[in-house]
Amino acid sequence: MADYVRAAIERDLKEIGFAEHIPLPQIRDITGRMDLSEFPTYCREIEAAQKEFPQIQIRFGLEADYISQHLDYIAGFIQAYPFDYIIGSVHYLGIWNFDHPDYVGQYEAYGVDHVYRDYYKLLQQAASCGLFDIIGHFDLPKKFGHVAVDDCSDAIDATLKMIKQKDLTLDVNTSGLRKPVGDIYPSEDILRRAFVLGIPISLGSDAHRPQEVGYHFNQTVALLQNIGYREYVSFEKRKRYKTSFDFSG
Ligand SMILES: [Zn+2]
Repeated sequence: MADYVRAAIERDLKEIGFAEHIPLPQIRDITGRMDLSEFPTYCREIEAAQKEFPQIQIRFGLEADYISQHLDYIAGFIQAYPFDYIIGSVHYLGIWNFDHPDYVGQYEAYGVDHVYRDYYKLLQQAASCGLFDIIGHFDLPKKFGHVAVDDCSDAIDATLKMIKQKDLTLDVNTSGLRKPVGDIYPSEDILRRAFVLGIPISLGSDAHRPQEVGYHFNQTVALLQNIGYREYVSFEKRKRYKTSFDFSG
């Protein structure tokens, strides 16, 4: 954790948030999700880092899956810790963890268009469920380069409208640049639609290694400014605040 914070300080970032995946004891998951028993330690490490590095704002986040059968558990978990922000994400279609590289072969059997359709339906539910502050990696099914024949504009617009209606924030996430698709989440086209709707954005690199902290932020901020965005938002104890794009990092 200290290495990530140091990387953020070196890149002149004003703040950094840690958003581990929510532990899911109900689901057999081999992807390196934290065990429930490890979470209190993680929480204490964040508090220790906040004391050790007063020169940067360190936020305590969570990336929570939207899984309709487990919403009570997810809601309870969110209540149990003093989170600054909750990212809501969809990683599962049924039991298929579609963004995991080991299961990428299932796209063809499922049908790529079908993947996108079902995904946006779930993402709309995630936006409407009332548990989350930010909607994570909006167009995630593109991760491995799968392109829908149908452009899904209606599903995308309906999902964005739900995000606006619920006053949520859209995660601008540069990790897609490190994936086969080679593009940020969400795409420029989707960001332009979000801007027209007046949807606020947060900015993240979804770093899984310290050297990925702030990955491609300069180019991404330039793109966001070109679209019209003048500020990004962050959260403290689930309350949203704005910062203008004037950092150099
Ligand atoms: Zn995710």
